[in-house]
Amino acid sequence: MSVNKDVFERRRDLNYDFQSVGEPPATWRAAAHMPETFVPTHCAFCGVQCGMFLRVREGKVVGVEPRDYPHNRGNLCPKGVTAYQQVDHPDRLRWPMMRKHGKSSPLERVSWDEALGHVARRWQELQAAHGKDAIAVYSGSSMTNEKCYLMGKFARVGLGTRHVDYNGRLCMSSAAGGYDKAFASTAPHCP
Ligand code: SF4
Repeated sequence: MSVNKDVFERRRDLNYDFQSVGEPPATWRAAAHMPETFVPTHCAFCGVQCGMFLRVREGKVVGVEPRDYPHNRGNLCPKGVTAYQQVDHPDRLRWPMMRKHGKSSPLERVSWDEALGHVARRWQELQAAHGKDAIAVYSGSSMTNEKCYLMGKFARVGLGTRHVDYNGRLCMSSAAGGYDKAFASTAPHCP
């Protein structure tokens, strides 16, 4: 499947996003050698994908600044403002961990092959014992259309389960409740 991007191009102000005129945006490589610089990107926390700048100092992300972009117009929600703190957080999961000797055993670092082999083996055992629908797949709204498509195929064709959902159902249920109370409609009303 392909999309004719000319459709968007005609309506698009090229000052937005990565096609800005004048000074080119700093790249990650260049940002590593500057005292502090702003790198244009998008918040990947939720599916809205607001435009933002990452503040980069000596190759490290030290903060975010809002970026004028059509659907957030310089605004960021509290999740986007604090999302950068995860980048170098000591609790960030950077490789597979397993409790190899039961639930009370300590977490140990393992290879991807060992972790994925364990998951595949356990899923096969569960499906053999309880049927294909014993496994459910939970996809994400921050992923591209292509990744969402692949997740659906992986669930239905690869695993053979009918249970596939995405985080929008849980994520948006609280927002929809708030919209309903405030505006008597569950649809988002803001840019
Ligand atoms: S709404 Fe908040 S979490 Fe979602 S993309 Fe925008 S800043 Fe990030």
